[in-house]
Amino acid sequence: MGSVGAKEVPVLLSPEGIRVDGRRLDELRPLRVVAGPLHRADGSAFVEWGANKVMAAVYGPREVHPRHLQQNNKAIVQCKYNMAAFSVDERKRPGLDRRSQEISKVIAEAFESVIFAEEYPRTSIDVYIEVLQANAGTRCAGLVAASVALADAGIPMADLVPAVAVGKVAGEIVLDLNKAEDNFGEADLPMALVPQSGRLVLLQMEGHMTREELSRALDMGVKGCHVIYDKMKAALRDRYSAARPTEVAA
Ligand code: UDP
Repeated sequence: MGSVGAKEVPVLLSPEGIRVDGRRLDELRPLRVVAGPLHRADGSAFVEWGANKVMAAVYGPREVHPRHLQQNNKAIVQCKYNMAAFSVDERKRPGLDRRSQEISKVIAEAFESVIFAEEYPRTSIDVYIEVLQANAGTRCAGLVAASVALADAGIPMADLVPAVAVGKVAGEIVLDLNKAEDNFGEADLPMALVPQSGRLVLLQMEGHMTREELSRALDMGVKGCHVIYDKMKAALRDRYSAARPTEVAA
């Protein structure tokens, strides 16, 4: 442990290139995706990703509230990202703050680019993301959960939207930052990919890195997104193949 003022700074990378939680530079945290755990929503998904626990629920297409947001030629996509008061070490003040508003906005915009909104004019597709436990990367976990929830709700989309943060920690480009790496690293760059088209639909960056590092970070993130994409598809397959035995019996 080193120290900066009163704050203890953990050693983020061993001489062998092993991270604080035992991962290699390009390794994801363990990820579990469950499709359809909630029965009252039109679609839902639960994501456990490292120490993050995130639930997403989708309603719609349904009537637009507030009414003046209604659009005559397409559905609108509304997102509400919320962090539970008990999701972080220091109790988070409940309710909408600027960070939650920003995250809700960028997630809604990411989905607007894949949802076939023209098929449902004058309606709203509502996405709720509840972070139950947070350990960095919750906007990406939220995107992953909400994507699967949208598919579970049967919303027509061009593709799922896997997401992951890449960054720079102790001088190295790393995949999927945890909280210590997010707090004490040099850069954090969440991104979301539409795998079939190769388009990025969310890209944000805090901190600093060179253009060459940025290019490597993007490559690492795209590879990570493809691994996450496979898990998302597997979760949906599991959910719908579970219905099959009754079909076979019938
Ligand atoms: N965090 C916190 N309190 C807050 C907001 C964030 O403890 O009010 C923590 C939480 O673990 C979160 C991490 O800081 O996951 C990183 O937050 P950031 O804003 O970078 O978003 P995220 O990485 O979760 O998408």
